[in-house]
Amino acid sequence: MNVILLTSYATLSDMERFAALAALTCHAHTDKDYVPHEVLGRIIKAGHESILEHITLTYSIKGLSRACLQELARHRHISLSVESTRHTLKKQIREAEDSSLYPVPDVLADVWKSTRVFTDLMITRLRKNPDISNDELKYYLPEFWPTNLIMTANIRELRHIIRLRTAPAALREFRVLAYSLYEAVPDEFKYLLADCVYKETDNE
Ligand SMILES: Cc1cc2nc3c(=O)[nH]c(=O)nc-3n(C[C@H](O)[C@H](O)[C@H](O)COP(=O)(O)OP(=O)(O)OC[C@H]3O[C@@H](n4cnc5c(N)ncnc54)[C@H](O)[C@@H]3O)c2cc1C
Repeated sequence: MNVILLTSYATLSDMERFAALAALTCHAHTDKDYVPHEVLGRIIKAGHESILEHITLTYSIKGLSRACLQELARHRHISLSVESTRHTLKKQIREAEDSSLYPVPDVLADVWKSTRVFTDLMITRLRKNPDISNDELKYYLPEFWPTNLIMTANIRELRHIIRLRTAPAALREFRVLAYSLYEAVPDEFKYLLADCVYKETDNE
């Protein structure tokens, strides 16, 4: 899986400033010399999370399994644009490589072989039936099938996702995604999410 933050540092800085201004507006502050991260740090401590909706991040996420996509898509305050199986499935099957598929643990190595069998079978069938449509084929896709997407979410929702999905109860792949969403943020802005990231010491 490859997760990249597309939102630029400059855009993030602007949004951070706007969000801090929003917080100050609530209290009719006229201080022009405010320090955005100090204002927002206080807002996070106070739990005034609607302010954080003024900051949105856009990510490119590549190589996520459809199993994990299904869980991600349950979150209602995110915007997703997902590579369409309708338009690209045959191309995806022809180009699929083991390295792009969700890796299975050693104990399931025999299942892994069958994932290869699956793609080989699909390719053979496609050669024999070139007219079969992507819409018909997609019903046979296994959940490990990888996909690519663009995701936009505001900081309030990202905090919720990161809190839920870095926790040990979450799907392992979703945990990797959630930690990656956090790691992709420049260090100067990590304070917006840091308290939501599960740390091993949380359980002690
Ligand atoms: C460990 C784990 C196990 C799970 N197991 C299952 C399962 O067995 N079956 C299953 O179906 N799902 C399961 N889920 C998914 C879960 O039920 C949610 O669909 C998913 O986590 C989306 O999160 P959410 O609903 O909290 O928030 P989001 O959709 O991300 O929304 C964020 C917040 O907005 C608010 N909100 C959003 N929509 C509404 C609304 N309509 N009304 C009021 N407030 C709203 C809530 O405060 C919500 O927490 C599981 C999730 C986890 C983390």
